[in-house]
Amino acid sequence: MKTENSEDVSHKTKEEGKVKAVALLSGGLDSQLAVRMVKEQGIEVEAVAIKTPFCDFDCGKGCGHKVLEVATELDINIKTVYLGKEYLTMLKNPKHGYGSGMNPCIDCRMMMYEEAKKHMEKIGASFVITGEVLHQRPMSQNSNALSIIERGTEMEGKVLRPLSAKLLTPTTPETKGLVNRSLLGSIRGRSRKGQLDLATKYGILDPPNAAGGCLLTDPHFSKRVRDLLKYVISEPSLNDMDLLKIGRHFRLDPISKLVVGRNHAENEMLLAYCQDFDYLIQPVLIPGPVSILRFHKKADMRKHKKLLQLAIMITLRYSDTLQGKIYEVQVIQKKRGWKKLISSQRCENDEFDAFRI
Ligand code: SF4
Repeated sequence: MKTENSEDVSHKTKEEGKVKAVALLSGGLDSQLAVRMVKEQGIEVEAVAIKTPFCDFDCGKGCGHKVLEVATELDINIKTVYLGKEYLTMLKNPKHGYGSGMNPCIDCRMMMYEEAKKHMEKIGASFVITGEVLHQRPMSQNSNALSIIERGTEMEGKVLRPLSAKLLTPTTPETKGLVNRSLLGSIRGRSRKGQLDLATKYGILDPPNAAGGCLLTDPHFSKRVRDLLKYVISEPSLNDMDLLKIGRHFRLDPISKLVVGRNHAENEMLLAYCQDFDYLIQPVLIPGPVSILRFHKKADMRKHKKLLQLAIMITLRYSDTLQGKIYEVQVIQKKRGWKKLISSQRCENDEFDAFRI
């Protein structure tokens, strides 16, 4: 196997005349089965694996780290692509809307298809294969959505979904006889029985669990994303998005947000994510969390002071403190070269519950 990234694309020399396909590969079961079904027809396959800020590779929480391992097992070359800023731009205003959470599945799949298409054209492959299963996911895997995605990427007839192919309109590789349709699958829906039967057939001893979907399908995480996109008028940064994945979040007012660490690991991450313009708050002499107070827009110092005071009181509520007693916290803001010790009481839950995101 040869690994490639989006900056450095190369591929091994192919046998003259051999049919080639590009697979959108995740570390999950479905896409690897799709590759096996096509490979066993003598077709040469290369993979493209997509990482977004919310999902390791393609769809599937937690399976992304396995994608290189899977490519090795399948003995195929792989190109990894990271969709970062451009993904956030799309997320703010997806043409085809969101699913049940903040998951813009149709636009997201289009971006993935575009990457597969680019690689297909680059290596002279005839078509793309995916592990999509008809009606497995409500937003992006129904016939209408699949054809919208194909039309939107000018890939009509060029995307073969081996697991469900017999239930779908024949694709160009099938009608041209490059692929034998009778050997393809007719799996539909959310049950994994068909996939597990195929895993047994291919001797996959420990098939990965069904993917749980990316973070954008999680209702709690979606609430944070919605809040950020509502209040950050300019483009949110990747750092803003990384912050959403950790800590307790509080919307203090339309231009400021507080994030409070929940454990040692999150405190360390908050220290790493803290930007020069953030206020970094840490209790001194008592155990307590790291917090970041972030302003999305400029505000006068009076406003900063008022919100900083509230942020300190919330931080102290999650520290080893008693009601009514005074404690010291250290506040740093690198941009102004600010480092101060500030004394305060904690506030009580009912005083800040309304700010929780
Ligand atoms: S669940 Fe939807 S938004 Fe998330 S990676 Fe899959 S297609 Fe994209």
